[in-house]
Amino acid sequence: MSNAKNLIFLGAPGAGKGTISKRLLAVWKLAHISTGDMLRAEVAAGTELGLAADKLMKSGQLVTDEIVAGMVKSRIAKDDCADGFILDGFPRTVVQADLLADAMKAAGKELTKVIYFKVDDELLLQRLTARQNCKGCDAIYNKIFMPSKQEGICDKCGSELYQRSDDSLETAKSRLAVFYKQTQPLIDYYEKAGLLMTVTELDAAKIVDGIVAELG
Ligand code: AMP
Repeated sequence: MSNAKNLIFLGAPGAGKGTISKRLLAVWKLAHISTGDMLRAEVAAGTELGLAADKLMKSGQLVTDEIVAGMVKSRIAKDDCADGFILDGFPRTVVQADLLADAMKAAGKELTKVIYFKVDDELLLQRLTARQNCKGCDAIYNKIFMPSKQEGICDKCGSELYQRSDDSLETAKSRLAVFYKQTQPLIDYYEKAGLLMTVTELDAAKIVDGIVAELG
C-alpha cells in the first residue's frame, strides 16, 4: 500500500478547515483541494459552471453533487496528489461521499483519515462573520481571533483583505443549517468506516501537532 496521506477535512463552515489545511501544508507536501476555492475560481472566470454555481453559493446552498464530484475526480488524479491530498469542504453529502469512494477506487487510492473539526455554533458564527480573506494570496484572517497587523491589509503579501459575500450573518446561518441537514450524516458514515478522527481542540498549532502525532 502507498504511504500517501489522503485526508478529508470535515466540519461546518468556520470550523477551521482552510486554516488548518494551510498550516498542515507547511509540514507535509500534500495537494490542497478546496471545492469552495475551485468553485469561486469558476465564478471569477465566468465559466458556465461558475454561472450555475454562483447563485447557490451566494445563498449558502450546495452546488449539485455531480458537478462537485466531477471536479474532484479529475483533480485527485493529477500528479501533485501522488503523495496525498487534503479534501477541504468535500464531500458534503452522502451522495458525494459515495461518488468519492468510486473515484478513489478508479484512481487506485485509499482514504487515510477523515478529520472532523467539532466546534460550537456560537463560535462558528462569530468566526464566520469576522473572517477576512486576502485578495492576493488567499491567506485567512479573523478580525477577532487572528487579526492582521495592519487593519484590512495582508501581513504576508500586503494586499487588501475582504469579507466573503457568504460570510454575512444571514448566509452564515443558512450555511450552518445546510451543514447539519446535509453534511452531518457523514460523521456517522466515516465513523462506521473506521476512518474518523474528531478534533475538539481550538488552538490551531495544537490541532496540527495532534494530527501529525496521530498520522505522522
Ligand atoms: P466553502 O468555501 O467550502 O465554505 O464553500 C463555499 C460554497 O461553495 C458553499 O457554501 C457551497 O455553495 C459551495 N460548495 C463548496 N464545496 C461544496 C461541495 N462539496 N458540495 C456542494 N457545494 C459546495
